[in-house]
Amino acid sequence: MTDVHCPVQTCPFEGTMAEVATHVDERDDEKHDWGVLGFQDIDEFRHDVHFEKGRNFQERARKARGNGEFPEAIQRLEEALWQYQRAQLYTDSTSSIADHRSEVLDTIAEVEAAEQVQAIDELVDRAENAIDSGDDKHLGVASNSAAREYEDAADALEDALELAMSRDIPSARVQEIKRRLRRARVCRQSLELSEAHRSIRELTVDARDHATAGDKAFHDGEYEVALDEYQEAKDRYESLGVGLEEFSFNEPTSDPTECDVCHQQFDEEISSWRIEGEVDLVVCPSCARFDSRGNLPRPREVATEHRSLVENIEDIQNRNFGLGWTSDESTDSSTSNEAVAESTGRDKREMLMQLVGVYQRLGEPPTAKELDEQTDFGYPAYQHEFGNVEEALVAAGFDHKEVD
Ligand SMILES: [Zn+2]
Ligand SMILES: [Zn+2]
Repeated sequence: MTDVHCPVQTCPFEGTMAEVATHVDERDDEKHDWGVLGFQDIDEFRHDVHFEKGRNFQERARKARGNGEFPEAIQRLEEALWQYQRAQLYTDSTSSIADHRSEVLDTIAEVEAAEQVQAIDELVDRAENAIDSGDDKHLGVASNSAAREYEDAADALEDALELAMSRDIPSARVQEIKRRLRRARVCRQSLELSEAHRSIRELTVDARDHATAGDKAFHDGEYEVALDEYQEAKDRYESLGVGLEEFSFNEPTSDPTECDVCHQQFDEEISSWRIEGEVDLVVCPSCARFDSRGNLPRPREVATEHRSLVENIEDIQNRNFGLGWTSDESTDSSTSNEAVAESTGRDKREMLMQLVGVYQRLGEPPTAKELDEQTDFGYPAYQHEFGNVEEALVAAGFDHKEVD
């Protein structure tokens, strides 16, 4: 402690407590006199210096705590405590010092508790972020890093739980942390058990990619390519149908650790994941992806997509996409000049191609809105040219009864 000032206002001397004491004793002028300075003796001066420093540290701790700087606050409070202990050495009347010391000790306990709550909050936040990022990768290509995310989440929650148990944390908070921990563990375990889910996911992506490529080829008039793509897609939908036989969607079980859909057994309850349908199901995190917002298809969806592919394939094989109108085009536009007739003919052909593409994608006659959105021409052009969608489809070679 080198920052003690000489108690004489006008004297610039400063040094350690012992140096200042010697300095005051040695100076002969009337100002350097303990009595004149208002102290009984040197000990009272020492007491006052330490006490003042203690007050000072307490004030700095109060500010640090207000800023959420808990370690800083605790350090200042410990310094205050030390100063009060020193002050006590130099006085007989201990009561005021004792009050200050117990006040500091109480504050330390409060700050430590706040620090723990903050640490727990941070751990729980970290775990939630890790779970979110694990969920994003759950059935994707990065399954390994999903496992790591779930492990990080579980580690953080275990630390949070340990802190919470060692402190006076409300039991609702402890329960909530336990619930989150169970959830992270189930997610982790579900990854190990999700081989079948992953293959469903891959087949689905593959099947839809081929179907989309088929639609595009069809739209471009490349019917052989379209046929191949549709066939590839159809094969995958059929494998999907087989793969999905492992899963059931209408057999809820009473076991809270068993998934209603894949029937795998978990170490913990899986009650936090549910999917809705004809019956509500309690499912594992992987099967939760069969939800309408998830990325796994249910059997009915697969069946619908498969059926529409079979129809597309049959349509192409039967050449049932209406090219018969080209010949009578030139007679219709006999009064126009040839250039216009040609251009109208090409447009009309393209209009019908696009209409058939949309019709086959949807599996039913498109609405005006769908024509607006999915063709280059828009509904008014079809209305102008053909009267209505049904007539346009007939012009494209479909029977009336097919398009009703
Ligand atoms: Zn002095
Ligand atoms: Zn499951």
